[in-house]
Amino acid sequence: MQRLEKLRTSIAEQGLDAVLVSQPENIRYLSGFTGSSGWLLISPTKAILATDFRYTEQAKRESTGFEIFQIKQDLHSWLPGLVADLGCHKLGFEANSVSYETYRKLTEAIQAKQIHIELAATTGLVERIRSVKEPEELKSIMHAAELADAAFEKAKTIIRPGMTEKEAAWQIEKLLREAGSEELPFEIILASGANAALPHARSTDKAIQLGEPVLIDMGARINGYCSDFTRTLFLGAADKSFREIYNIVLKAQCTAIERIEAGMAASQADRLARSVIEEAGYGGAFGHGLGHGVGLAVHELPTLNATSSDLLVEGMVFTVEPGIYLAGQAGVRIEDMVVLENGRARVLTKAKKDPVL
Ligand code: ZN
Ligand code: ZN
Repeated sequence: MQRLEKLRTSIAEQGLDAVLVSQPENIRYLSGFTGSSGWLLISPTKAILATDFRYTEQAKRESTGFEIFQIKQDLHSWLPGLVADLGCHKLGFEANSVSYETYRKLTEAIQAKQIHIELAATTGLVERIRSVKEPEELKSIMHAAELADAAFEKAKTIIRPGMTEKEAAWQIEKLLREAGSEELPFEIILASGANAALPHARSTDKAIQLGEPVLIDMGARINGYCSDFTRTLFLGAADKSFREIYNIVLKAQCTAIERIEAGMAASQADRLARSVIEEAGYGGAFGHGLGHGVGLAVHELPTLNATSSDLLVEGMVFTVEPGIYLAGQAGVRIEDMVVLENGRARVLTKAKKDPVL
């Protein structure tokens, strides 16, 4: 229950009496509950998991230590009474996951029942705790990273000119699932030729051709924990312009990985890689942030970009993924996952970075 205690410390720091947790990964992280419908109500002394008939048995099994509260109706019909019973007045809710409609109905219900509850929007309360990984979490993440590495090695022997992007992506998906991955954390991005210039391309029916770059962004999931990595390959003899941008991206990535330190601002980490790309004259072609945290969600805290206010601390797991995208021509992205350990970035992704297939 160490996680709950950390949350309770945050609740107190924010001057709240209790917090309603609705974000699915946050619910899973705090309670172990994996059902797709439920809420947590956490106060200094209570930990309640509210879910409906479909999930009450599962909740009892997965969330020992939580009081299971069976609900029949929408949030606004039961939450005000429950919060009042706990003697709580200032209730935090997660602004990123409560819809405006839910908020409106809740406000109306509180007014109609004339209960003294003040709703306070919060962001990142649980996400900040999640950003620093425990040893067990790191194990699952490393397992997910290994699966992705192994599938990539096999994929390199399968991908051939003439195959469509969709076919190749499906082969990789099969490899990942057969090796034990749970539902993939995101749809595999496999983009060839000019499609590789789209940072988040969808695989198409286009046939992969000799003399083209192929960008593959993929991940696996183990015990709910994700991995995420990208390699850019070249089918056939890589031409000079591809080699040039590939080497710049690689240099930017290696520079960041070598120099990132615990205690560094996430924006500073972004700068380490970005300055290499800018100095090479491609600053405008690196239009996204350097990376993101990875855990129960494939995109979580910390956020590594130029405007981030996050701080990189020991135990965080995140990606380092600079890229250069030249519209209509080609794109290169190289993405590794790292963990901050003993003050430095230890690389979790083992897949080779030789671009030539
Ligand atoms: Zn990725
Ligand atoms: Zn990523």
